[in-house]
Amino acid sequence: MAQTKEKLSPRELVLERIGFGGGDAFSWNKMQWYVAFANRDLTRLTPGDLLNLQEEIRAIAWQAFRSNRTNEPPTLSQIVQLKEAVHRVLYDLLRTTEATYGPVAVTLRVTNWEDFDDEGKWSTTTVRPIGGFEVTGRESKLYQDELMAHMFSLLWRWGLWLKQCPKCWTIFLQFRRHAKYCSRKCQSIAFMRNKRASERGESKSLQIRKKAGAKPKLKEKSHG
Ligand SMILES: [Zn+2]
Repeated sequence: MAQTKEKLSPRELVLERIGFGGGDAFSWNKMQWYVAFANRDLTRLTPGDLLNLQEEIRAIAWQAFRSNRTNEPPTLSQIVQLKEAVHRVLYDLLRTTEATYGPVAVTLRVTNWEDFDDEGKWSTTTVRPIGGFEVTGRESKLYQDELMAHMFSLLWRWGLWLKQCPKCWTIFLQFRRHAKYCSRKCQSIAFMRNKRASERGESKSLQIRKKAGAKPKLKEKSHG
């Protein structure tokens, strides 16, 4: 509603835009943000894209860690480094079923809370780092360490849903249990390719049979 939207801070509006609502039920969207970020081509950012990314990273760090810092937004080179770290972790996880990042100094908090998720099977306990990065003297990696810690807390839940498209090698979150491809586009390209290949295979075997003088199966059957 327009009335509630007026009450949202600029930071909350950014979070709303990228689907980061409150509560753990939205953690799919959050994992999705990291996957999309890992797939982004940062060499083609417009100034507007860069500004959006800076706002998003700041807002995510604020939401995940409630850190009320007024420091500078991440620079383009910090964003590039963050992307490389995210990308490497996701690919390592897919390739070797394991990934590490660190070391980082974090403060941990465990919370028992009511589950807003429809699927009751999920744990109602969340463990998440709540910052503490300031003490490490790694200010240049502040956003990077925070977002990486946040992503790891999401991977704890969504790591198994992470897949790589066999057609275009993009990494994606598997929405349906047996979805093999990243998109309908890749799925239909692969489908058409398989279909053509099997048609070629069939006509080839027909030619071979003709050359060998073998009778088609149907005729053989009517004789018998
Ligand atoms: Zn694909």
